[in-house]
Amino acid sequence: MNKIEHIGIAVKDIEKSNALFSSLFNKQPYKQEAVESEHVITSFFETGESKIELLQATNESSAIAKFIDKKGEGIHHIAFDVTDIHTELERLEKEGFQIITKEPKKGADNKLVAFLHPKSTNGVLIELCQEIKE
Ligand code: ZN
Repeated sequence: MNKIEHIGIAVKDIEKSNALFSSLFNKQPYKQEAVESEHVITSFFETGESKIELLQATNESSAIAKFIDKKGEGIHHIAFDVTDIHTELERLEKEGFQIITKEPKKGADNKLVAFLHPKSTNGVLIELCQEIKE
C-alpha cells in the first residue's frame, strides 16, 4: 500500500459539510460526484498528499445511512492507494482478511475500489483504491 489516499467522513448534509470543511481548510472541494451504485453523493478536498472525502447518503439503503443511524456522523473509512488492486486483494485474502468487494468496482474520483470488512481490521473499514488510467 502506497499511502493514505483519502479519509472518508459520513455526513448528513453534504452542502452544510462542504461549507464547514471549506472554512476549515480555507479552500473549496475540487470535485462533487454522485456514485449511483453506492447511493451516495461525495465531495473531495485536497489536503496535501491525501484527501478528505465527504459522503452523504441519497437513500435509506445506502451504507452511509446505516452507518449514521448506528454511529452518527464521523470517520467512516480510510482509503489506501495501491498500484495493483487485484494482486493486493489476492494477497490480503490469503492473509485471512475478510474482503467485502471481491471484484473491485468503479468508485468516486476515477478509482477502482474494494473494501475490507472492519471485523477483520480492528473495527476500521479499509478501502483500497487504484487510479483508473485511460
Ligand atoms: Zn472512499
